[in-house]
Parts: sequence; C-alpha cells; structure tokens
Amino acid sequence: PGADFNTVAIQLSGPSKPLALGTTPGLDDSFFESDGQLTKREVRAVTLAALRPGPGQLLWDVGAGSGSIAIEWMRTDPLARAIAVEPRSDRIENIRRNAETLGVPFLKIVEGTAPDALDGLEEPDAVFLGGGITAPGLLEICWNALKPGGRLVANVVTLEGEAELTEARATLGGELTRIAVSRLEPVGPYHGWRPLMPVTQWSARK
Ligand code: SAH
Repeated sequence: PGADFNTVAIQLSGPSKPLALGTTPGLDDSFFESDGQLTKREVRAVTLAALRPGPGQLLWDVGAGSGSIAIEWMRTDPLARAIAVEPRSDRIENIRRNAETLGVPFLKIVEGTAPDALDGLEEPDAVFLGGGITAPGLLEICWNALKPGGRLVANVVTLEGEAELTEARATLGGELTRIAVSRLEPVGPYHGWRPLMPVTQWSARK
C-alpha cells in the first residue's frame, strides 16, 4: 500500500493537533527515535538538498544511524528508493521503527559494516556517507559504484574525517562546506545560543 503522509502526521501529533508533514526534508528531530546519533534537522535539510533526490532514484545511506537521511530521501517521492547500511543492531531497530512511523516501510536495511556490506548492492544514483569515512577503501568504492551524474555527500565532525574529505576534494573536486548551527536554549531565566557540533560536508557530482 502507498504511504499516506498526512495520516502519518496525524498519528504523530494526535487528532487534536493535526500537522501535515509534507515531503520537504528537515523534519523535526523529535520525529526520529535515536540514541543521539542523528543528523540534526538543519544539517539534514542541507544534506538532502545536496543529494538531490528524484523519482525512481536509489540512495545508499552508509552509516545510517537512525535512518533519517534515507527516510527523508524516500519521503520526497513515492518512487524514490533507499538502502540503509548500519552495523549496530540497536540502531537497525531504530531505522526499522522510524521508517514505519514516517510512512516509508519499504526502506531496505542492510545490517553490516561498509565497505564489505556494500558488496552486490544495486548501483546508486546518490551516496550519503554519515559514518565509517575512515574505513579503508570506503570512499573510493562508493565513488566507483556511483552512476555517472550521481552525487556523493559526506558529513564529518572529526579531524580525521576532515582529512579524508580534504584529500577527496583534492582528487575528485566538488565542494567543502562547514555548517555551524546554534539553537536557542534557556539560560536560567534568559536564553542563549547553544552551538551544535559543526559539520564539515563534502559534496561532489560524478
Ligand atoms: N545520518 C545518521 C547518523 C549517522 S551516525 C542519522 O541521521 O541518523 C554514524 C553511523 O555510522 C553510526 O550509527 C555508526 O554505527 C555507523 N558506522 C560507523 N562505521 C561504519 C561503517 N564502516 N559502515 C557502516 N556504518 C558505520
């Protein structure tokens, strides 16, 4: 059965406060079950824009965590497809639950460590690397698997991850961007800006 995104919205927020979620990426973080490993909504929206989903297109979400990138990719179009790759079984459970709650139960989930877990998967139109970037050969294997015209987007928060992306940009081109988001939070009776960890993003087209 096709997913009805409006029904999803009503289930999430209760009949007294219906909210049409629509299909634009950047859903509130609270819509995803996670252990904290979640691409925050502001960064997620920018990431989906860089990935450029399209009807019938296939995304590999490598290091899927709670699955938010793959799920938002699939929500943009009823024909969009995604494969979430994640080694931790507790996070696999989150991915499964989130996909069902948010109306994309057909998300394919692969439990395993990349790059080995990518063996034999259908060639993608886009790849998102949200974890495992320092795993030997991973970036090259993903780039080689990408169809011509495909997009590769990688987000990192560590110096070691940045080193990989610096090299990737030097050899493959594309753009490096740093995304720093602060959110307003209470400070005693007042309010102040709490910074999230800055994310370095590499985005390239094959
Ligand atoms: N984008 C995700 C968060 C990613 S956190 C979200 O929004 O929910 C990074 C994830 O990468 C973690 O769950 C970690 O288990 C996974 N990971 C780390 N190394 C990996 C590897 N070699 N292959 C696949 N996944 C990996």
